[in-house]
Formats: sequence, structure tokens, C-alpha cells
Amino acid sequence: MNSYDQFLSPLGRNLHESVLRKMGQVIASRRGDLISFAAGYPDPTGFPWDEFREIANELLSGKDGSVLQYGPTRGYRPLLESILGVLEGRGIRADLPQVMTTSGSQQGLDLVARVLIAPGDAVLVEVPTYTGAIAAFRNAQCQLVGVRQDHDGINLEALDETLMRERAAGKRVNLLYLVPNFQNPAGIMLSLQKRARLLEWAERRNVLIVEDDPYGDLFFDDVARVSDTRPLKADDRDGRVIYLSTFSKTLAPGFRVAWVAGPAPIVERFDTAKQSMDLMCGILDQRVVHQSIVRGVLARQADPLRKLYRMRRDVMEQALRAQFGDRLTWNPPRGGFFLWAKLPDGFDCEALLAKAMEHGVIFVIGSAFCVDGSGHDRIRLSFSWPTPERIRDGVQRLASAMQPELAR
Ligand code: PMP
Repeated sequence: MNSYDQFLSPLGRNLHESVLRKMGQVIASRRGDLISFAAGYPDPTGFPWDEFREIANELLSGKDGSVLQYGPTRGYRPLLESILGVLEGRGIRADLPQVMTTSGSQQGLDLVARVLIAPGDAVLVEVPTYTGAIAAFRNAQCQLVGVRQDHDGINLEALDETLMRERAAGKRVNLLYLVPNFQNPAGIMLSLQKRARLLEWAERRNVLIVEDDPYGDLFFDDVARVSDTRPLKADDRDGRVIYLSTFSKTLAPGFRVAWVAGPAPIVERFDTAKQSMDLMCGILDQRVVHQSIVRGVLARQADPLRKLYRMRRDVMEQALRAQFGDRLTWNPPRGGFFLWAKLPDGFDCEALLAKAMEHGVIFVIGSAFCVDGSGHDRIRLSFSWPTPERIRDGVQRLASAMQPELAR
């Protein structure tokens, strides 16, 4: 058979592939030494290997058969209970019916798409915004409508204008997606004042907010404090916020353990939607994560990880300054994994990526994060994974890829 297209459903035909997966294929297909500033992977030297080994050995001793049994779709109950404690540490009070585990926050985004987005809806997102959310929401056949950002997060006047314009055009507009802490890709934080105003706005305009918070624990203490990271969900008196978070960045992404906290009736719908994906879910990962919380491993991780990534940010910023002077500009990252850089005039991110690959370095093109067709003059550089030597080397390669135009 030469084509299977006739068998595909309209959705199957139009599925959107994650940009980062595509980049993964590029990395795999390229031989030789490549420095990646592309994927936002945590540094594996930051994983608590010894503690995980000890916990896994105990769990796999064979004494407790339930460890390898089917687990409930909603999540391993003791883990859900300890997640309530993690939430409380972030100022969020929730009960068991309001929480559910997901296979990475990515599955949480997919559940949002399945349960809350109808074909033809307008969904509000920032420009730029996270590519994984773009892919998940687009698969629900909605229209993503971008709202511009200021240095302290989404522009509230533009947000309200956009909402009213889309509603006046007859669109259903129910959702705003935000990454308030150390946004992927822009690295910025939503100010506390804007967080409060957004909650008031969501209630007044009858909108739900999807708050995606993978990086809140990873603030850099020279430029941010824990109080700056207080989730919108912590002050959500009216049940407007669906909060997603994950253990991917603080324990390890390979567990694929994340969670959603939201109004109970919506979480109930997520649970039902998830049943058709996995019916029961793997419990070993969840039990390792649970034990990591109970034994204090998670709590001990935060401080060293903040220091580690802050140091990587410093190395990248110093290297960029040394190579580019003021020809490359960026928002100084206050936490998280990413530096969002503006290219000098005349550079296009896609053409630069092709050249950069020849020089052995990759990044993610800015346009991948922008639903309004902008971003061609931006690139996202991730500093979380490469060692300091590799960061310096990679920045040097990037500068070489930009010659001779850069020298002009
Ligand atoms: N949201 C954002 C903003 C992210 O940066 C990521 C990870 N790149 C995720 C969600 C997904 O994380 P995970 O699926 O590993 O929990």
C-alpha cells in the first residue's frame, strides 16, 4: 500500500507534532559533536540517584505485590495526599477530590484540551508561549489567539481587548493559558499585582485560567524570592484556576509524575477522560516519588538545584556578553531553564539554526513559540543541561555561525 492517508481521521491527519520532538530527531540524525541549547532537560547530575536507588530497592523487594499492580487512574492515594502538602507549601489549600496525577504535565495539557476546548473555540495564550501547550491545544482544533507580554508578564489591557474582540466576533472564549513563573520560553515572572488583577478579571469576564507551574521552585535568589512565585491558585477564591505542576524539574522527568489541582467537577471530568487513555496507571514511579516526598528528598533538592541552575545562567550570560557585547539582548532569567534572546537586526532564527547546526550547536527557533507569526528575530537558549565548558563552547559556536554578518 503506498498511502494510508485515506484511513486517517481528520484529527489524525492534522495532528500537531511537538517542535521539540522534531528537534530531537535532528539531534539523533546528526553525527558528531553537537551542543544542545534546545531541549529544556534537567541536569542528570542533579538527580538524587542514591536516594532513588534505596527507595527502588525497597519497593522492588517483592514484599508488597501492589507495587507492580495496576494503579488507580486518579493516582496513588498516598501520593495524592502528599501532593496536598506540596500544594500547601505553595499557599494552595486543596482536598483530595481536587487533585489528580498525570503522566507529566503534558498529559494535563492534553486533558485540558480534551475536556475544555471545542473545535472553533478561541483560546488565549501569551506571545510567546510554551510549545507543548500549543501542540496539545491545536489538536483540539481551536484557534490560539496571542496576547503580548510586558517585562512583568501578560499585558492586561491587550488581554481584555482580545477577549472582547473575539467574543464580539461570535467566538467561544473560555480559557487563558499562562506560565507565571520563569516562563518557558521568555524566562520572566508575572508580577504579584498582575496575578491579583488576573483573578479579578477571570471572575468578571467568566474565564478559566490554566496555570502551568513547572519551574516555581527554581527561582534564582539574587533576583527573585519565594514570595514572588506565589501561584494564582493560592488566591483563587472563585474556583477559576486549573493548576498544573510536575516533579520533572525537581526530582526527575523520567518518572513522568505530575499533577493537576482544580475545581472538583473539572478534575472529575479529567479523570473520566484519562480512563480511556490508560484506564489504570503505572504505580511504581508514583511510589518512588511519594517516598521521595515523605523522606524529605524533594525538600532537600530545591536549594542545590537553584544554585546549580543559577550558576549555569551566570555562565551563559557571561559567555553571551563576552561574545556578543550588546548585539544580543535578552530578559535576565530570574529562575527556570531558559534565556530568550533577541537577535541583531537582519538575522532570522530559522536561517541561523541551519548555520548553527553546521557549527555544531542548536537552539529552539523563536517563531515556534509565537502563535501570531512573530518571533523570527528570537531564539530560546536552554542553560539547564550543558556543563559550563559546553555552554562557553556552544556560545562560541553560535557566534561563529553568525559571522561574517555579526562583524559588520
Ligand atoms: N509546561 C511547561 C511550561 C514546560 O516547560 C514543561 C516541560 N518542558 C511542561 C509543561 C511539561 O513537563 P512534564 O510533562 O515533564 O511534566
